[in-house]
Amino acid sequence: MVRRISAVLFDLDGTLLDIDVEGFFPDYFARLRRFVAPHVPGDEFLPQLLRSTTAMIASRDPSLTNQEVFLEDFFAGLAVPREKLMPLFDAFYRDEFPALARHARPAEGARSAVEWALGSGRRAVVATAPVFPRTAIMERLGWARLGDLPFAFVTTYENMHFCKPHPEYYAGIAGHLGCPAEECLMVGNDVEEDLPAQDVGMATFLAGPAVIHRGRRPAKPDYRGVLADLSRVLGEMPRLT
Ligand SMILES: [Mg+2]
Repeated sequence: MVRRISAVLFDLDGTLLDIDVEGFFPDYFARLRRFVAPHVPGDEFLPQLLRSTTAMIASRDPSLTNQEVFLEDFFAGLAVPREKLMPLFDAFYRDEFPALARHARPAEGARSAVEWALGSGRRAVVATAPVFPRTAIMERLGWARLGDLPFAFVTTYENMHFCKPHPEYYAGIAGHLGCPAEECLMVGNDVEEDLPAQDVGMATFLAGPAVIHRGRRPAKPDYRGVLADLSRVLGEMPRLT
């Protein structure tokens, strides 16, 4: 089916950003744990962080942002006052998080794909798992050398009410853009996380080479290829007027 696409949504990790998750996550957790160590015992902090992250990803309460779900769960489980820890979190993401750049580099073809989408008159969106504060997501966008591009919307834990793989996450993006889901093309590398965009009517492009498929959902995107193929796919669609 040939359709009119007015917005292109890009996943970040494994799609626009080539990230070594096996290096990134242990380093991230170790640095964060060290950062808060004077205030929270390390053996309580990490398990609570993981529990609250799981709660945030699972939540389907439309009245709460991901940040609200996370913080409520997190501080209910720890004996440390929120006023004490929050400034520390802010300082961590501002001052320490950037050191994690060593685990990431721009994915091949990432910048040209986004520039091509923008140049064709479409809006571009960063549709990354909204489990981080905006500071951290903008920093990671910088690691992909894309921080200067005029994205119409970037999903963060402050501005979203759902996480991937819930279809409501994708519906939320279309809502923010004020356009029908059918006019959106989701570009991502993860079958289970990115293809549920189909469930709300979006078109999908499964982007290699770092495709992740755990087998819980059939890999049936509308398109597949590497980022360099995106211009051909979009080029074959009706031009926007
Ligand atoms: Mg990904």
